[in-house]
This record gives sequence, structure tokens and C-alpha cells, in this order.
Amino acid sequence: MTTGSGRPRAGPGRGERAGAADSGAGHATRPSPRQRTRRTEPALGSDGVRVTMESALTARDRVGVQDFVLLENFTSEAAFIENLRRRFRENLIYTYIGPVLVSVNPYRDLQIYSRQHMERYRGVSFYEVPPHLFAVADTVYRALRTERRDQAVMISGESGAGKTEATKRLLQFYAETCPAPERGGAVRDRLLQSNPVLEAFGNAKTLRNDNSSRFGKYMDVQFDFKGAPVGGHILSYLLEKSRVVHQNHGERNFHIFYQLLEGGEEETLRRLGLERNPQSYLYLVKGQCAKVSSINDKSDWKVVRKALTVIDFTEDEVEDLLSIVASVLHLGNIHFAANEESNAQVTTENQLKYLTRLLGVEGSTLREALTHRKIIAKGEELLSPLNLEQAAYARDALAKAVYSRTFTWLVAKINRSLASKDTETPSWRSTTVLGLLDIYGFEVFQHNSFEQFCINYCNEKLQQLFIELTLKSEQEEYEAEGIAWEPVQYFNNKIICDLVEEKFKGIISILDEECLRPGEATDLTFLEKLEDTVKHHPHFLTHKLADQRTRKSLGREDFRLLHYAGEVTYSVTGFLDKNNDLLFRNLKETMCSSENPIMSQCFDRSELSDKKRPETVATQFKMSLLQLVEILKSKEPAYVRCIKPNDAKQPGRFDEVLIRHQVKYLGLMENLRVRRAGFAYRRKYEAFLQRYKSLCPETWPTWAGRPQDGVAVLVRHLGYKPEEYKMGRTKIFIRFPKTLFATEDALEI
Ligand code: ATP
Ligand code: MG
Repeated sequence: MTTGSGRPRAGPGRGERAGAADSGAGHATRPSPRQRTRRTEPALGSDGVRVTMESALTARDRVGVQDFVLLENFTSEAAFIENLRRRFRENLIYTYIGPVLVSVNPYRDLQIYSRQHMERYRGVSFYEVPPHLFAVADTVYRALRTERRDQAVMISGESGAGKTEATKRLLQFYAETCPAPERGGAVRDRLLQSNPVLEAFGNAKTLRNDNSSRFGKYMDVQFDFKGAPVGGHILSYLLEKSRVVHQNHGERNFHIFYQLLEGGEEETLRRLGLERNPQSYLYLVKGQCAKVSSINDKSDWKVVRKALTVIDFTEDEVEDLLSIVASVLHLGNIHFAANEESNAQVTTENQLKYLTRLLGVEGSTLREALTHRKIIAKGEELLSPLNLEQAAYARDALAKAVYSRTFTWLVAKINRSLASKDTETPSWRSTTVLGLLDIYGFEVFQHNSFEQFCINYCNEKLQQLFIELTLKSEQEEYEAEGIAWEPVQYFNNKIICDLVEEKFKGIISILDEECLRPGEATDLTFLEKLEDTVKHHPHFLTHKLADQRTRKSLGREDFRLLHYAGEVTYSVTGFLDKNNDLLFRNLKETMCSSENPIMSQCFDRSELSDKKRPETVATQFKMSLLQLVEILKSKEPAYVRCIKPNDAKQPGRFDEVLIRHQVKYLGLMENLRVRRAGFAYRRKYEAFLQRYKSLCPETWPTWAGRPQDGVAVLVRHLGYKPEEYKMGRTKIFIRFPKTLFATEDALEI
């Protein structure tokens, strides 16, 4: 397969995108006046819209503009939402803001991702076809091939907005349309099959999404010089491991547990000592919804089982992995009873027996580790018994550590399988890389804790990068075209990023400081310290610092951040504990002695002798984000902004309040303002002339001179005023949509 150069273009109706409606509202070649009166073919790729040339104007009213920059009133949020609504009603889920793709989850299969659709979007200009994810996919791929610059598609949006689906569609597009590598063709399958495995271990049913990713993911796909995918690499961020031991009502644990119980062969379950019924496991019953109508655990299990083989798992490795999954379930069923001294004792011998076998550890060591804490004081080891509450805490901490470390191992294992094996590719440098970022969007819940704090900080960083890169690319284009750059006023959220991450005075560093004072520091002393250090910050507030009016809405354990996307109140409860993420030493020691090969890789003995404190969770996250930002900065960015239309996961429902929030959280109005600050529309001279040449006798039917001169003649004939447009080196820039619309409408007369 080729990248599409020299391939015949798709069929009738494919016109240059004038930005009016999804009719493609025009022709690459101007029809003769006779043809013009005839009804033309319905637009291609209209996905439910049947708009003809004559009705392009009414179509604009009906289906809105396909690029928000063409909104007359571009600063109006209401106009923005109305445009989204019109398009959503017509099943047009994609709309641009310049090069940024805005996508609204349709919650129904629109049949717009077929191989035929992929072909339609290959090798054509971004602006020639109705907005689509595949237009982004193809544009990015061609830039990668022709300019040999690394690319990154950043997909954002709140839970359930469609990020993971978009990522999967993009991967599928590349797997199906790119040429196969000369050797190592299996890499395409591996890239695709890594998904079900990661989803089984990292996704769960939540109230917001039946297949919610509970980790952030950045995936690089590596292409050789012929444009064939030859390798990949995944980075994962902050798995929500608390889910292993607790789920809110209506939510589930990670899919893999249910898949194994539903789909696992009798023999496998017997070996693992598992019963089929999820109700038997305390770690699976808390959300009270083991069964989900939209999920088929049994068939998903088959997919996962097969995928594991594709990504190079041996039978032994699968066994070891499943032993760990089962051991987490057994751990959850470990019970304790108090003896006369109120010390915890394990009462569930059977569970302990299975755990001992599955994890390959000494029974007595594990028993002791679950009920005691080893402290090293003045060089001496002391064993201090745990009470019931402490033992339950230790057990849950172990389950979380075992699961999350296995997840990290799994990502590493997948990476080994995805690593480019092409010996003809001498180094990483001779390949180009396309990155896909599928990461959690801004979260504001009734109750916001440490996890939301990290996630929202991540979004601040990405927003900062987004604005920086959008502004930069605008400025670069103006400079390249020789058009004076007019500075744009925008909100720079660096002040909030600094508030969180600054070295000494930032929230994370204050939190880390408190984590260094075990026994003395509490969540509340952390809050006090915060109040002392950042009290004058305009984006920070607590109960103590608030005025009479706002005080009421702030609890005494809360702090509030004024994020770029709005206010979020965080409760400090659990901050220290979650940031410390401690696992008692003797539990670590026990796991280091594990004979399960995966566990022994996850728990390394060097950890025990390490004098240095491990980095806290927030600091690790901060470092990984800084690294991510560097990775993204080194690439050409593309953006997909996903929106969830309703909370009921239903098709056809457009909940305006919910959508308005997301437009805000995604910074879309700011994005539009930046994009529209100068010119609403810009097009290469050739394309512009081709489209509108029939409107001027001097340029119709052909213009023999330079396209730029032809455009100059054309716009003069059309009566464009000097303030309405600028002529760049290769493109015409039009300031207002109405100028373009008037020209577009002239085509229809
Ligand atoms: P989270 O942050 O919770 O992981 P997400 O943004 O990744 O959420 P997805 O899992 O991609 O959300 O989408 C949620 C569900 O919405 C999907 O399981 C699917 O049913 C539906 N959906 C999303 N995008 C589309 C689409 N383009 N067409 C049809 N259905 C879709
Ligand atoms: Mg997801």
C-alpha cells in the first residue's frame, strides 16, 4: 500500500471544503452554468447529511459550520454550543477549530470508520473533505512521511468522551492503511493487540463509562522510512490502584477479574482456587454490579487470552500472570480476628494456603507480614503486632502494590514485544515516530481528593502546552507567510502550574515535606503549612483565608484551586497517605522472596537496601509529566478534543449544561479566540483560485499567470476591502467569515 500519492481521488461530490456545511459545499472544478442548475450528487462522507449544492446555504443553517472559526460571533459560547448542537442533531460529530478536531461522542455506531471511509480520507487535503478523525490521521501521517518530523496526536476530554475509542480508530487506520513492513509484519498485530490486554488490566466500569481507562497512556508508533509501522512504545501514568480494594456503588474492579472468572477454563480456575461467582470475592462486591449489560466478560476473556499470545506471552507467563490476578482476589478474602491482646490473627487458612502457592512465598512469612510491622530502630529489627484495622490496611496495601506493579510490568512486557525488531533499521533515529496521547481529562466531582488533584494538575500542564504550541504555530505561519503577527491576549495558566509544582513553595513540595515527618505530620498540618506558604496566591483559597461569603462553601479540611477551567475544592483527607504510598517493610521482603517470576521482577531486593527514600507519588507524577511535556514538545502536535454529550451514555441526547462545562474545561473558546485573533480563514492560492475562479471573467475558465496574481485579480473583482484580507507568500488570509460566505454564496447564484 502507498501513502496515496498518485492515487485517483474519490468519487463525485468531493469538493474543497469551504467551511460552510458538510456538503463539501463546492467543487474542485467549477461546473458549467448548465450543470450548476442541476442537482448535484449528495456530498460524500456526509454521514447522514444529504445536502445538495443548491441547498448549501440552508445547510449552513441546518448543520452549522464545520469549522468554528467561521462562526460570525466567535466569542459567543452560546453560538459555539448551538453550532455543536446543530451538527450533533445531524450525526455530524466532528467539527474543527482550525486544525483542532472537536468530537462529540455519538454513543451509537455511525458506520463511519470502515475501510471505505479510511480510503476516502487518504491522500486528500485536510480541507477538502468533511471533518473526520481520519482526516487528522491522514494529515498527521503524511506530514510524518513527507517532512519526516515526529508527530503527536493529543486526545483529551472527560471520562466517557471518546478518547480511547478515538485512539483505537487511529491505530486501526494506521494498521490498515500503512504499508506492511518488509519484515516483522507482526508488529501491526501487536500494536492492535496490546490494547485489549491493557484495557483488561487498566480499565473498569465506572458510573461515567462502562470501559473507563483508569490510567493515562501515551503510545509511540514507530515508522520506517517507507512509512511502515515497525515498532511501538507505551508510557503509562498513575493507575488508579485504589480501585483494586474498593469500588463505589455501581462501579466495578478492573475488567480482568471478571473476565477470568467468567471465561477462564474449569481447569485454570481449579488451579487458581477460584470460584466462578464474583460475589465470592470481597474485592469484587463493593460496587454491587458484577454484571454489566454492555460488557461480555466471557468473550472479552477470549480476546484477551488470544492477545496475550500475540504480544509474546509464553504459556508459563500467562500462568504466572493469572496466579497474580487470583492472588489479589484471595488477598481480599483474608480475614483477621483479634486475640486477647487485640492483635490481628489470620483466620482464613484456605486463602492463605492458595496465596502461598500462587505467589510462591513461605506461608509463615506471609502470615507474619500480614499481621506485624517490622521497624528498624537504631540498627535493630523490631516486630510490632498490628491491630485489626492496621492488618486490614496492610493487606489492602499489599493487594494494591501487587496489582499496580504487575500493571507496570505488563506495560514493560508489551514494550519488549513492540520494540522494533527490524535489523534493517540501524537506529531509532532513522525512524519517525507518531505519538498518541489518551489521558484523563479535567475532573470535578462532589468530593475531590489526591487523585483529582494530580489529574487536574496534569490538565493544567497540557493546557499550558496546548496554548503555547497553538500560539507558536499561528505565529510561525504568519511569519512564514510574511504577515505581521498581531499579539494575542490569552490567559497564561503558568501561574497555576507553578503553584502546584514550584520547587520550594509549590503544593507538591509542601506535601512532600510533610510526608517526611512521619508520626508528626497529618493531613491537617499539611493544610496549615499550605495556608502559611501560599496564602496570598490569587488561585488558592481555604476556609481560613476565605471571606465571609465564600467560607460557607469550604470545609475546614478543604483547599480550593482556581484552575484555568474553573474552581475545584479538594479535601486534604488522605493526601499524606496516598502521596507516601508506603508498603510495610516485611511485606516488601516477603514479596521479594516470591518465586513467581513476575512478582520477583516487580519487587526487587535493591529496594530493601535502598537508603534513599523512594520519590513520593506526586513527585513521581510531576517528573513523568515533565518528561511527557518534553516528548510532546519535540513533536508536531495535532489535537482531538472529545466531548461527552450526556451522562446517561445515550445516543441523541445533547445536555447543554454538561457540554458547556466541557467547552470550558477543554479551553475551546480560548483556542478559538487564539485561532481567530487574526484571520478566520486561510487557503493556498491554487486552491482558492480553483474554487472561485468562475466568479470573475478574467480568471474563468483558466488563469494563465501565477495563482497569487489570479487571486489578486479575483478578490479585486469581488470587491474585497483591504482590511478584509491579506496576501501571504503562498496563501490568502481572510479576516472575517462573512467575506468568505458572501463569496461562497455567490457560487450558488
Ligand atoms: P475514560 O476517560 O473514562 O477512559 P474515554 O474518553 O476514553 O473515557 P471511551 O471509552 O473512548 O471514553 O468512550 C466511552 C464509550 O462511548 C465507548 O465505550 C463507546 O461505547 C462510546 N463511544 C465513544 N466514541 C464513540 C464513537 N466515535 N462512536 C461510537 N461510540 C463511541
Ligand atoms: Mg479511555
